[in-house]
Amino acid sequence: MTTSAGKINLLGLTQPEMEKFFESIGEKRFRAGQVMKWIHHFGVDDFDAMSNVGKALREKLKGVAEIRGPEVVSEDISSDGTRKWVVRVASGSCVETVYIPQGKRGTLCVSSQAGCALDCSFCSTGKQGFNSNLTAAEVIGQVWIANKSFGSVPATVDRAITNVVMMGMGEPLLNFDNVVAAMHLMMDDLGYGISKRRVTLSTSGVVPMIDELAKHIDVSLALSLHAPNDALRNELVPINKKYPLKVLLEACQRYMSALGEKRVLTVEYTLLKDVNDQLEHAQEMAVLLKDVPCKINLIPFNPFPHSGYERPSNNAIRRFQDYLHHAGFNVTVRTTRGEDIDAACGQLVGQVMDRTRRSERYIAVRQLGSESEQQDSAMRN
Ligand code: SAH
Ligand code: SF4
Repeated sequence: MTTSAGKINLLGLTQPEMEKFFESIGEKRFRAGQVMKWIHHFGVDDFDAMSNVGKALREKLKGVAEIRGPEVVSEDISSDGTRKWVVRVASGSCVETVYIPQGKRGTLCVSSQAGCALDCSFCSTGKQGFNSNLTAAEVIGQVWIANKSFGSVPATVDRAITNVVMMGMGEPLLNFDNVVAAMHLMMDDLGYGISKRRVTLSTSGVVPMIDELAKHIDVSLALSLHAPNDALRNELVPINKKYPLKVLLEACQRYMSALGEKRVLTVEYTLLKDVNDQLEHAQEMAVLLKDVPCKINLIPFNPFPHSGYERPSNNAIRRFQDYLHHAGFNVTVRTTRGEDIDAACGQLVGQVMDRTRRSERYIAVRQLGSESEQQDSAMRN
């Protein structure tokens, strides 16, 4: 929270934290709401622009605090309206944020970590290894930056961003406190006022943290399933060896019932040619999920160099979808968006580079490995 200059970054503070901050500098708590509106509704990062804050307090704030988002390295706009930002975080790494417009809906896909320790076999972020956790300011900062780029001021009127999914780089449940704080800001009326149904956290299955999540927040949950049995899931999603399907689905059910209302789990399933896309996998999946209130989202694999996987044919995708549909599931196929700017799921690698040099980098990042004790032990424990 505190920068090298010793100033507190107000961007990532939740309302209670902001109130505490103002008390700590001898000011009234109501200032929290005023300043939060300037930051999140109007995208302001300059205390002097806060016209309802007196000059003396503005000077005081300048001395002890700042409003600092991650540095924008690039912003690309695809021919289909998809936008992608590469931002640099304090650790020096870059992460990506993607905006996907779809009719009246605008979904922002936000990153939680630079790299990821969980090493799912078909994910390019996983191939980088873990680099760092984003701060709460860096997580909400992605929403702040995207929102400002639409010039939609205030943010709560005529919104460009109607939904947020924690489906960018990283495993959000392994950066728990910062992600939860940022999601509170997404939902808070003093932040971005997005409904809890429209903020979704996607996890590959860190079971204890799913239970922990229910104690802190009531956002929607998405589970990255990718395989209908433990043997195959162990291969594709290695954390399955620690938290196998049975305990994982029970944890998801507990989370959904803790929400205490009619909401369904989103099940994500990346389709990999000849690996998990056969009819027998769809059949097994229908049995596995028969008692789980869910909607299924099939994601045809987005290729990247040296992945060793291929995207199934359209026929194979349709056959898989049809089977589940006839078995009574609500099942959609995620269309690939922003392909011309490499913004598709699993293509987020957080680097800015000449696209012709991408494959060289994939080789380089494979050698980096995981640098975090904490992340490594999350896998071992
Ligand atoms: N770590 C979290 C959230 C980020 S990944 C998780 O795993 O759920 C967001 C989604 O994209 C996940 O379902 C992930 O499995 C999927 N994904 C990763 N790489 C992919 C690829 N190359 N093609 C298609 N989907 C991919
Ligand atoms: Fe990490 Fe998710 Fe990629 Fe798996 S799919 S390596 S959990 S970002």
